[in-house]
Formats: sequence, structure tokens, C-alpha cells
Amino acid sequence: MPNLVIFGETMVELSKATDELYKKGFAGDVHSVALYLKRAALDEQVKAYLMCACGQDLSGDQLIETLHEQNIQSDLALRHPERTIGLYMVNTDANGERSFDYWRSTSAAKETLELLEQQGNNKLLDLKPDVFFFSGITLAILSDESRAKLWPLLEQLRDQGCDILFDPNYRARLWNDNLDKARGEFEKAFKLSTTLLPSLEDVEMLFGISEFEAAANKLLELNPTATLLIKDGPNGMLYRDETEQFHLAVTPVKTVVDTTAAGDSFNGSFLAARAMGKDVRESLNFAAAIAAEVIQHRGAVIPLEPYNKARDAAL
Ligand code: AMP
Repeated sequence: MPNLVIFGETMVELSKATDELYKKGFAGDVHSVALYLKRAALDEQVKAYLMCACGQDLSGDQLIETLHEQNIQSDLALRHPERTIGLYMVNTDANGERSFDYWRSTSAAKETLELLEQQGNNKLLDLKPDVFFFSGITLAILSDESRAKLWPLLEQLRDQGCDILFDPNYRARLWNDNLDKARGEFEKAFKLSTTLLPSLEDVEMLFGISEFEAAANKLLELNPTATLLIKDGPNGMLYRDETEQFHLAVTPVKTVVDTTAAGDSFNGSFLAARAMGKDVRESLNFAAAIAAEVIQHRGAVIPLEPYNKARDAAL
């Protein structure tokens, strides 16, 4: 059975339940990837591990419980002896526009690789993962010292035959608007990964390139053997590996409600379909159908009923 490891930060999410009450949940870009992966794939088909960090406290216990409920493996949810999990609050203004306040600058997640290293990295390597997924948000929250630990770890995983998937998910604010710094770190990630999953917008912001073919050429310059999947919302995507290259159209959604988790649900669904043995086109079409459903609902995690309907129609 394939083992997939998804690495990044999951946070406590506080969102309004009523005018006066907030409800607590757990969320984050990679958490959404793992969640949609496990919504698509049965337990006996795929094991998904969320590699993240939380405190040795009640919120940490609740995260582990939540992962169990979501059928996500918690073995790599590492417990920090002093720090706790990061937090964000969802604000909604009078027009329904959402904004987010974050408390994550000293979160446990920033030291995930230090915690792993204290265990000799074997907790990860011994799993012999088939897939290791991380994002540009994962990169952004790590310190320079921590990122320096990531690169050799990726090389070790690659040497073990693991596929490394990277979605740059570029957020200027997380890099203090330091584009040169972000570009430098992303270039390292592009070179060490086997599959690159950027949006065309990421490539435009990073390299000033806004066309599929030119974007693919730029990425291949950095990593000539990479598999590429460049996504551009309703304008479809470009896929390229060593044997084929093609454009795939998607059916544009007429009424988009909230694009939160479009890319994350796409990535998780794509990973699930591939791990379940679907071919590339089937997997891309499945992922596009799920992402199209997700953006017709509010928030990252859509209710199960419309999800199941979309999954059953697309699988
Ligand atoms: P993005 O990260 O915006 O490129 O979105 C990820 C995926 O979500 C895309 O590859 C599409 O499959 C899907 N998607 C995003 N926006 C739309 C849309 N307006 N209509 C249909 N599908 C969409």
C-alpha cells in the first residue's frame, strides 16, 4: 500500500459560529491536501501521514484526535516540549469578504525538522514513503537553519526512490515581500523535487512568465527531468513528463463562492487518484472535478454530501 507523507503547518482555526462565539478546528494548506487525499482514498488503498508539529498540550491532543477522525496517520505529528500549535482567526466583513489574523511566529511547526532530527530522521525515512509532498508555505514558515536541514532530507528520500512533490503556493507576505529570497529558496525546491505543481500565477510572480509553454521551459531549465503540472484555474493546465506533454481543459465554474483550497483539494485528489492506480489524465480530471466542487462552497473543507456526490460522479 502506498505511503504518502504531507509536510507542513497545521494550525488551530477559529471561525465564527455565532455573532458572539468562535468554533475551534484545525486547518492549513497541507492539512487540506491530506484531508482531500483521504476523502478520496480508502484506508486499505493509501496511507497518508501529516508531518507537522504541535505542543504537548490539550490542543496537541485534539489535533491528534482530529487526524484520527480524518483517517490521517498521526505518527509524524511531532510534539514540541515548549512550543504550541499556531493559530489563526477567520474574520468576515459586512460584505462577506474573509480576512485572516495569524498567531504563528513562534509555532511548534517552525521546528518540525529539529524535532524530527532529534529522533535521527528515521521516523520518516523508515516509513520508506512513496510520495513526499510539501508546499511553499511549508518552506516559508521554516527558519534558514531549518530549510538547510530539509534539502539533504529530500535527497535521502529521493535516493530511497520517493517521489517529491512541491507546490510553491507563493505568498509574498510570508516572505516579507522579499521576492529574491523566496525565489532562491524555491529554486532549490524545484531542483530537488521530482514533480512540480505550481499555478501559472506562482510562475508569473516568481519569474515574470505568464504563458504555459514559457513557464514549463523555465521550470525545465531548473530541473530538466521534472514532471510538471502547471495549473491556471478555469483556464486548464499543462502536464508534462518524460513521455508526454498536453494541455487539459477544465469546465469553468459559473458561480465561484470561495476559492479557498482549490489548489489543495486538487493536489490531494490528484495524489489519491494516482496512488489508487488511475492514469494521469483520469487523475487530473478527477482532481479538477473535486476542486470545481470545493470552490462552490465556503471554506476549505466542504460538507461530505456534495463532496461524495462529486467524487462518485468523477471516479
Ligand atoms: P488554481 O490553483 O487557481 O489554478 O486552481 C486549482 C484547480 O482548481 C485548477 O486547476 C482547476 O482545476 C480548479 N479551478 C480553479 N478555479 C476554477 C474555476 N473558476 N472553474 C473551474 N475550475 C477551477
